[in-house]
Amino acid sequence: MQLTFTDSPLDHAGLMRGDPAWIQAQHDHPGARAVLFAGGSLALDAQGGPLVLPVGEAGRLPLKWPGLVFLGLENGAPWFAASLEPGVAERGPDFRMSAMQAPPELACIFGRARAILLWLARRKVCSNCGGSNEPADGGLRLVCPSCGMEHYPRTDPSVILLPYAGDKCVLGRQPSWPPGMYATLAGFVEPGETLEAACARETMEEVHLKVLSADYVASQPWPFPSSLMLGFMAEVEPGEVRPDDDLEDARWFTRDEVRALLDTEMGRWIPPHFSISRLLIERWLNGP
Ligand SMILES: [Zn+2]
Repeated sequence: MQLTFTDSPLDHAGLMRGDPAWIQAQHDHPGARAVLFAGGSLALDAQGGPLVLPVGEAGRLPLKWPGLVFLGLENGAPWFAASLEPGVAERGPDFRMSAMQAPPELACIFGRARAILLWLARRKVCSNCGGSNEPADGGLRLVCPSCGMEHYPRTDPSVILLPYAGDKCVLGRQPSWPPGMYATLAGFVEPGETLEAACARETMEEVHLKVLSADYVASQPWPFPSSLMLGFMAEVEPGEVRPDDDLEDARWFTRDEVRALLDTEMGRWIPPHFSISRLLIERWLNGP
């Protein structure tokens, strides 16, 4: 099973993209394509699919600042992305839905595009001096000519973890989630914290259980808008689960109870393969 947004086919061309002439040559490449966004969703073509155009054609449309952004090379063919001005094309559904339906390689490319475009949309003005940022490296770096500050796309590390003890694990649900969905715990890593410490703190804050050890499993870029989910299995001290106020529910589940959640007909269910949450739960379910 390939986790969505992982195994990207893109070569980010980090050694070349600082050269404006090289970026221009990518624009002029006959195979160069651009994926277009409308707000945080993919823009749609006439058939209702993602709007992907030859880069020259995309460049003639009304684009939001800073225009076309270089994403990388897929088998030598350049990919670009841009956000359209409102009203130019129809806006697609929620990006989660589009990413779930796209072939895995395209989901990676579209996810990278979304994270970068949402970052750029909030960085036209320099956060240090209020000057006007200018794009560099094909749009993957911003430079403020007034104060010289460089700005890079941000990635926010978050731990996502499955607490377990013996043959039971803890799942919870937030009130904002779709009805009946139970999943792993998650939270942002705070300054000055290791990933293991973040796992311990989140588990204590959310369900009041003490983590004995946390083992890293896998990571997943999560462009909603700019997270990197770092997946852990967390062995905890057995005890009473006391959910924090921002959880609607959290409780211990046996393996049989978790298996029952795989059947969405039961009314309670766990996230689909789209999310690393599912990978962690299946890893535990199929583990020793
Ligand atoms: Zn500045």
